[in-house]
Amino acid sequence: MHIIRITLEASRILIVEDETALAHLVERVLREEGYATHTEFTGENALAVVMGSEPDCIVLDVGLPDIDGLKVCSLLRERGFRTPIIMLTARDTVPDRVRGLDSGADDYLVKPFSFDELLARIRAHLRRTAPSQELITVGEVTIDPGARTVLRDGMPIELTDHEFRLLEILMRHAGKVLSRQQLLDYVWGYGIEPNSNVVDLYIYYLRKKLDTDTAHRLIQTVRGAGYKIEA
Ligand code: CA
Repeated sequence: MHIIRITLEASRILIVEDETALAHLVERVLREEGYATHTEFTGENALAVVMGSEPDCIVLDVGLPDIDGLKVCSLLRERGFRTPIIMLTARDTVPDRVRGLDSGADDYLVKPFSFDELLARIRAHLRRTAPSQELITVGEVTIDPGARTVLRDGMPIELTDHEFRLLEILMRHAGKVLSRQQLLDYVWGYGIEPNSNVVDLYIYYLRKKLDTDTAHRLIQTVRGAGYKIEA
């Protein structure tokens, strides 16, 4: 497993490719473009990673040693994941393309492909799925994702980047419990040790800044599960 610590807001790309040389090359090219990458070499591991924390885009080789990329793709779609998937394949025949697209892939690149083309396709799919920039309100708190501003009862609240990102992700999933691991992955990216208490610490910071009414907490601790925000 190859893990890289991401910079804030880097899009997270999962690379699934069993040819290690190619996997590492793709990884290097994507990192140089500023993406956070995570590489897996088998279909089973790729599924596990996506279930744990959905990436922003998946580059998925068809030929894998265990379950092939087509199967991985159709399983992800069956489980409701809409993540953009770009399939890589060694062959270029019409039936191959059809099978790839039928399995739920969004795009299809034939090896050997140019990295410029891969990057262009990734950019296109990320644009398509970029989160909405509309205002989000929960209780008396409103955030503007585009401007990265926060208002509580109409008064601006200063947040650090990580605090903002944590609040944003909770508000985008208002009413839903997010686990510490999901929050870690969303806010800090792949590669933070799972037992880190950084999430609890930042929840504490957020509460101090905008959730001071302890009788009516917006950010709620769900014992054994994680956190949620709810008015
Ligand atoms: Ca392969």
